[in-house]
Amino acid sequence: MARMLRSVLHNAFSKPATRPFPEAPRAAFEKARGLVTFDCTDCRFCGACALKCPTGAIRVVREERKILFEPFKCIVCGACLEACRFGSVQMGPERRKPVYEKPVEVYTKPEADKPATPQDRNE
Ligand code: SF4
Ligand code: SF4
Repeated sequence: MARMLRSVLHNAFSKPATRPFPEAPRAAFEKARGLVTFDCTDCRFCGACALKCPTGAIRVVREERKILFEPFKCIVCGACLEACRFGSVQMGPERRKPVYEKPVEVYTKPEADKPATPQDRNE
């Protein structure tokens, strides 16, 4: 009886063992693999990231200087980061928020109206 009472009192006055998610989500830890984004400033639209992506989450449209990214196909493996020689792919530690509909993110070069040159394509 005394033992049970001790347990009851202990549980009543101690912090909960779990986090009150989603009100208090866990902060991302340093170097965690998370959010993949593209910065097309130096992107050559070579398609190397898309070729290496094991899930087909990336589509590069060279002619339109566009990268179409389906984040909910991404398994955060990091292959696209390793494939890009121009530092145009970034990965942050944050996680994506849940959504009702899976988006397709479109990334374009700032001067998107300029046609791609052979140098841009590494030809
Ligand atoms: S590998 Fe890099 S430079 Fe090539 S299309 Fe992907 S993001 Fe752009
Ligand atoms: S991290 Fe992996 S799965 Fe996600 S886009 Fe890059 S290559 Fe594809």
